[in-house]
Amino acid sequence: MTNSAPITQDVHTIPRKLPEGGKVNLVGLTREALRDVLIAHGTPEKQAKMRVGQIWQWIYQWGVRDFHAMTNLAKAYRAQLDEAFVVEIPEVVSKQVSSDGTRKYLVRIAGGHEVEVVYIPETDRGTLCVSSQVGCTLTCSFCHTGTQKLVRNLTAGEIVGQIMMARDDLGEWPVPGAPKDETRLLSNIVLMGMGEPLYNFENVRDAMKIAMDGEGISLSRRRITLSTSGVVPEIARTAEEIGCLLAVSFHATTDEVRDKLVPINKRWNIEELLNALRDYPRLTNSERITFEYVMLHGVNDSDEDAHRLVKLIEGIPAKVNLIPFNEWPGAPYKRSSNNRIHAFANIIYQAGYASPIRTPRGEDILAACGQLKSATERARKSRKQIEAEAGVKN
Ligand code: SAH
Ligand code: SF4
Repeated sequence: MTNSAPITQDVHTIPRKLPEGGKVNLVGLTREALRDVLIAHGTPEKQAKMRVGQIWQWIYQWGVRDFHAMTNLAKAYRAQLDEAFVVEIPEVVSKQVSSDGTRKYLVRIAGGHEVEVVYIPETDRGTLCVSSQVGCTLTCSFCHTGTQKLVRNLTAGEIVGQIMMARDDLGEWPVPGAPKDETRLLSNIVLMGMGEPLYNFENVRDAMKIAMDGEGISLSRRRITLSTSGVVPEIARTAEEIGCLLAVSFHATTDEVRDKLVPINKRWNIEELLNALRDYPRLTNSERITFEYVMLHGVNDSDEDAHRLVKLIEGIPAKVNLIPFNEWPGAPYKRSSNNRIHAFANIIYQAGYASPIRTPRGEDILAACGQLKSATERARKSRKQIEAEAGVKN
């Protein structure tokens, strides 16, 4: 980590217009749902499929939000669309850029709620860490988001809208008519932000289907990883209905410890979770399941744990992603030492599994895994402070 100060900037604070007069937001509708709303608002049934394709391309391939700019549609039809619909994505409240290039956005969604979205640039890829809920119903004891109550599920539009927002900020919408450019700044998605994606299954699925659609954002399903704390009944559906890669917040090798760290373990224990993972269909070895394992000093980081972990995952095409614990104010744990983490990684590696140690990114802007709540609160506080300074009363 370097000590250079992060760059903080406030993005446009001009309030964006809220959907007026009950206009329907088209972002997040599946192709079928889009077809239905177009027909309900006067598009002839015979033309609906073609119109869906055209509007879809404007929104998701070219990033166009103004119906009047959708030039392959008749002028009168564009006006008709503008009367009934909007193309709206979450509003960026603030953006911070870490000294390592990580970008963290605070975005506001309907109801004034805020969630965080993190963009992590790497040499060969750029990953967007997307949130699926405001807060989380689960209470993993090492996770700051887990100390925040669930406020609500995000809609499919708010989930795919995070991707569209990032593409706006990265300036990577292609120009209509230009050849397809395969080098992408935003090439991968991880559902590892705030929330448990499998407790918001339908909206996450619909959003990811839009992200994968070849006529739109067009990300390969192999470039999308969904991380779950272990919602066993939804795991098979994830493969069938989304088809993305799976990561599991494993974090412990005995039920006793996992019950404490990931309390959903009391509902579906390690054995049930592993059975579901053994059944997760995958096509190639490159589609291994990622076992996420947070390294907590003296809690789950012994050599015995590493050996037990190897035994437990035997037979599952897997890699183990070791996450040095990111501390937050009041956290009841400490990060394992570097030596401990490397010794643990080595045991797993010797057993034949890749065991990368995740480099914390964006620590200077509190954008690393599990730190997302504190940043929201900080941002809120600073706005409060600003209001107080300006003499605004709540
Ligand atoms: N709810 C989902 C996805 C979001 S959390 C899940 O639990 O899988 C993304 C990853 O960050 C999970 O593996 C989670 O266990 C991990 N994480 C949470 N808090 C952390 C912290 N303080 N330090 C390091 N990793 C953390
Ligand atoms: Fe929720 Fe995941 Fe945090 Fe657990 S680790 S509290 S499931 S966001």
